[in-house]
Amino acid sequence: MPTERLLLNFPSKIVKKPIVYRIVKDFDLEFNILRAEITSDLEGKMLLEIKGPKVKIEECKAYLGKEGVEIKEADKGIILDKEACVNCGLCVSLCITKALYLKEDSYKVDFDKDKCILCGLCLNCCPVNAIKSKI
Ligand code: SF4
Ligand code: SF4
Repeated sequence: MPTERLLLNFPSKIVKKPIVYRIVKDFDLEFNILRAEITSDLEGKMLLEIKGPKVKIEECKAYLGKEGVEIKEADKGIILDKEACVNCGLCVSLCITKALYLKEDSYKVDFDKDKCILCGLCLNCCPVNAIKSKI
């Protein structure tokens, strides 16, 4: 069954609407909230994993867009530039989900996008600017 991870941004005017509830009710998709927060300007941000038939996922994304939810593909969130990385390990010590980790065989830093919750803790820590975000 296809799974997608979406980073959703709810503008303040719709933040109280039961939009996520309707993902289950109207589209019969399984979902898992990986991270959610309300920003100081009362916008909602949520990292959501949805699972179900591709056609239902696309219908759900169209619905979210119609409701005014901004959707970004979470898999493009963090990019590790392995050429630039000097394997200092600083980002590894900050990453709470172990998405950034040290490979045991080579002692080089690698990135597992499926574990990343886009918390942003690793951004701006890198002395050689090897971690970037497109979102
Ligand atoms: S902080 Fe930068 S240089 Fe150090 S391991 Fe992480 S990506 Fe590599
Ligand atoms: S954004 Fe957070 S979870 Fe993702 S790699 Fe960086 S520190 Fe780890």
